[in-house]
Amino acid sequence: MTAAPTPLPADRGNPNGAIWAAPFGPAAPRGLCTDCGVSRMADAAACGRACQFIRPDYPASETRVHGRARDPMLGDELFFGPYRRMVRARLKAPLPGAQWTGITSRIAQLLLETGAVDAVLTMAPDPDDRWKPVPVLVTSPDAMADVRGMRMGHAPLLALLEPARTRGHRRIAVIGIPCQVHALRALEAELGFESITVIGTPCSDNTTTERFHDFLALLSDRPETISYLEFRADYRVELRFDDGRVKIVPFLMLPISKLPPDFFPLTCRTCVDYTNVLADITVGYMGGEGEQWLLVRNARGAALLDLLVDEVVLSEPGSSGKRAGAVKGFLGNVERAAGGLPLRSMPGWLRPLVGWLIPRIGPKGLEFARARLEMKAIETVLHLRREAPRRMKTMVPAHVWALVKPYGLVPEPGESPQASGKPDISRVNHHVAREGNAGGKAAGMGLSRREMG
Ligand SMILES: Cc1cc2nc3c(=O)[nH]c(=O)nc-3n(C[C@H](O)[C@H](O)[C@H](O)COP(=O)(O)OP(=O)(O)OC[C@H]3O[C@@H](n4cnc5c(N)ncnc54)[C@H](O)[C@@H]3O)c2cc1C
Ligand code: SF4
Ligand code: SF4
Repeated sequence: MTAAPTPLPADRGNPNGAIWAAPFGPAAPRGLCTDCGVSRMADAAACGRACQFIRPDYPASETRVHGRARDPMLGDELFFGPYRRMVRARLKAPLPGAQWTGITSRIAQLLLETGAVDAVLTMAPDPDDRWKPVPVLVTSPDAMADVRGMRMGHAPLLALLEPARTRGHRRIAVIGIPCQVHALRALEAELGFESITVIGTPCSDNTTTERFHDFLALLSDRPETISYLEFRADYRVELRFDDGRVKIVPFLMLPISKLPPDFFPLTCRTCVDYTNVLADITVGYMGGEGEQWLLVRNARGAALLDLLVDEVVLSEPGSSGKRAGAVKGFLGNVERAAGGLPLRSMPGWLRPLVGWLIPRIGPKGLEFARARLEMKAIETVLHLRREAPRRMKTMVPAHVWALVKPYGLVPEPGESPQASGKPDISRVNHHVAREGNAGGKAAGMGLSRREMG
């Protein structure tokens, strides 16, 4: 559908009339799909060449967007994709309502302020459900304040590309999660914009907004008063409430075992791009040890960071601890979960002690981020192998196989496009051997929010 967007009415969170929404056509029926919006565009068949879940070609896409594919021999590119610069960062004056300090929405705001773009495509909170993402076009810098913060769920962001063009926008910025950005980059050249600037965030463990409400209900007697939730890099979840209260819960104390096995959809259990490798700049927190974590991926991304000039404090990311033991413990639990068995559970009395211990001895900084990347890769292989084995050959890129290899997971016949049945990971293998894979003190302690004992 290409209907022009209309302003959201003022009583629906759009006081200055600068946030635009558009009616969507229905989503076309798809198998693995996060409803990124492509199936609602004029040519729904574009999914075939755009979708992350069909036949992604990351080396080709990275080369098209950044001028080169990830080089596993270069820094941490095997884990995080191509980048020119990686930093910890925080805004000197954190923005109210932001998920972290607000670097993502501030960059977009500056793009509007300087006239570098005429619209920002992003997600606003649904006025009737603050956790539900609603795709919108933002056209005034001030209105970026109304879209700050994280929503849980999938919403058809890219369905607003055609209405944006119809409305006459030529230079746009898009804030998106990896599955949206993959499809956007695949179609970018045919969309007819003068430029598309992509600010990406990492993404993992997403689910439908409805299911996320079920999770909130396990965390509080009054879940409707929870205004903020974040899985922090110090192995704790931070909850904020409408009355200003803050509650910190160690991952191990979360009621994960009460969630149904399909709480996270197969898409998000098998997604192969955690760090949004096709964005110009990725703004996350995983490697930030309590601050934000930026990956500047190309010249456009460098210019985006430059926009922040003296508003931002930058520092070198730190790294400590050993991830291998924790990742192995996680692998054991995913094997059980993927095999339909209950998660191995830690006795209740031990949980507070281990919950206290993990932030002190577990991997931190970049080592924490590498651990999360390896865990995600393990999930991809094990869950896809069990639930959609025929997808393995086309959906699992070589870098994912390289990430799981140190843990004994290799492609079985027919699971990799290479004739030998083995993906071409010679360069990455060399990197893994060089880096080593020693066990650590955290052995057996899963550090993910999921599949924890
Ligand atoms: C579902 C989800 C899972 C995430 N998991 C991780 C993770 O595991 N590790 C990590 O480092 N970072 C993760 N992030 C990113 C992280 O939560 C922050 O959004 C990011 O660090 C930016 O913080 P900020 O303060 O700069 O953002 P803000 O300035 O507050 O801006 C956030 C932007 O994200 C957009 N947004 C909010 N919800 C959604 C959504 N559901 N879909 C698409 N866009 C949305 C908003 O519209 C806004 O433009 C995740 C984000 C999402 C949406
Ligand atoms: S995720 Fe997007 S590209 Fe993939 S099938 Fe769904 S709508 Fe199409
Ligand atoms: S986890 Fe992956 S598939 Fe799921 S919403 Fe996030 S980017 Fe998309």
